[in-house]
Amino acid sequence: MKKPNYSVLFLFSLLLLCCNGQAQTTLTAETVVHRIKNNITTTWNEETVDTFKGGSSDSEITGIATTFLATLDVLKKAKAKGLNMIITHEPTFYNHYDTTNQFEGDPIVAAKKKYIKDNGLVVFRFHDHIHQTSPDGIFKGIISKLGWADYEQNQRPYINKLPKLTVAELGSQLKTTFNTPTIRIVGNPELNITNVGLVLGAAGSTSQIRSLQRDDVEVLVIGETHEWETVEYVRDAVTLGKKKALIIIGHANSEEAGMDYCAEWLKNFISEVPIEFVPAGDPFWTPQ
Ligand SMILES: [Zn+2]
Repeated sequence: MKKPNYSVLFLFSLLLLCCNGQAQTTLTAETVVHRIKNNITTTWNEETVDTFKGGSSDSEITGIATTFLATLDVLKKAKAKGLNMIITHEPTFYNHYDTTNQFEGDPIVAAKKKYIKDNGLVVFRFHDHIHQTSPDGIFKGIISKLGWADYEQNQRPYINKLPKLTVAELGSQLKTTFNTPTIRIVGNPELNITNVGLVLGAAGSTSQIRSLQRDDVEVLVIGETHEWETVEYVRDAVTLGKKKALIIIGHANSEEAGMDYCAEWLKNFISEVPIEFVPAGDPFWTPQ
């Protein structure tokens, strides 16, 4: 039997390694999105807001920033860190579908578009599918930030069974966790509660009220709402003597930690470039 030619085999392996190395240096935005599609637990819905919002999908990616919202400030921070792909949970151009026709001639929109173009950035929204995958990545991140991972939980709807505390105590805990003075509460501060519903982001009053209708939701923590809908529903529920309360923590606070988790999740299947969570932060402040 003929002996294998080891030097040829060695050279061949070396060639394979080199080619592989070369492939790793040309990660495109499109490839990143392909890998996301392959790693979610649900099928990709073509009717989605999870699309490119700026830049070119065939751009070579040098690094990835995940964020709650691609603010101009976040774009600048990502650029400074050499992260040219920004994966944002919420819209870049101030409406759900990121349409900009209505903003023709607007200097803010024009400046943001120009900044993305001039700096070779690529912005991709990851909203629908990070919620639809299991576990919901946004929920997973926020539960970890809240320190509630060890408490009994129900997903969809999200209900957490906490050790007994008052609404005021829960409000204080949230104020500390999010380091924000702008948490707002409707209901009796002395109400003893244990079952806390979570409706993150701006899910709308229908799903917020649906959650509040449940006997196992005593207080509902939400991102944001129209003040004349869910807020007034809770105000009337309290007047009727129902054991209900509402805590509004702000949209960014309610979801941002999910994009911190998203950065860790992406590292499971993207290793060629650095991946970093770049927080947008809570936009609000209040007079002392
Ligand atoms: Zn969300």
